[in-house]
Amino acid sequence: MEAKLKQQLPGTLQVLVDEIETAAGVEIEVGQVAAIAGLLPGRYGGAAPTPMQATLCFGADAKNAQGIRLIVNHTGDIAACQLPYSVPYAVFFHELMHLRRYVVDRVPIIATAPEPVKLPRAAVENMLEHQVIERQYRQYGFDFPLYTVARQAWDTFVQAEVGTCNLAILQAWTETQLLNDTDVGEEVRQAAEVAMERAGLLSLLRAFSDNVAWLAKSPDLVAAKQAMVALVYAFFGQPVGDVLMLHRSSTGEWTNNRLPRQIRLRATARGEMKVFQLRAG
Ligand SMILES: [Zn+2]
Repeated sequence: MEAKLKQQLPGTLQVLVDEIETAAGVEIEVGQVAAIAGLLPGRYGGAAPTPMQATLCFGADAKNAQGIRLIVNHTGDIAACQLPYSVPYAVFFHELMHLRRYVVDRVPIIATAPEPVKLPRAAVENMLEHQVIERQYRQYGFDFPLYTVARQAWDTFVQAEVGTCNLAILQAWTETQLLNDTDVGEEVRQAAEVAMERAGLLSLLRAFSDNVAWLAKSPDLVAAKQAMVALVYAFFGQPVGDVLMLHRSSTGEWTNNRLPRQIRLRATARGEMKVFQLRAG
């Protein structure tokens, strides 16, 4: 990243930039653009404009000798704030963390997946990445409570068909349970429970978010991502065996692999072991 830009970042973010660039062997290209086409509907209500977006290009797409490019485009200022982040550089941090996960932690990316209506691969990918990224603000010196879903979303929830769930509901539920620690967090969780009980989805959703909560804390980052991906496709009754994931090796090559049949992970504190058995069917 250009030295002039980097110097204006908080110290913890300068260290983060160095760490990502060292692992990738290239600099992060930060550029201002007129507008960013939202790939996906906004997380926080419909068509909110996207102020920043990280892009990872690799292989032939990178069009350079290193085979990798890291880009963060922004429409205004890298210090920009956008709800739910009320602190300068918090959005920029979020985008850097997307890059860090793929390049430093080398967590796999969903490359090919069954895409029935309303289960776009990029939306599943982002939803799962956010479960880990959002938890890391405090470690990097940002001090604000997580607030991803407002109570109103549940109070006004209308279900098309009892017993059916879609990705938007799954995401809102999971974020409500796991990424909501404001003083109204408990109230929002209760509103979600009432709405989902009525919708006949409560026990299914609770099992899902309990698993994700466990996985998001596991030190086995690669296996945790694989298990989360398996859980989402299994949740929607999709064949997990059809999912391919791109994985960056320690030498920088990318390979495309199926999910392992068995995924073993440790929990953080107690060394507890969990094994996810996949059904390929
Ligand atoms: Zn994101």
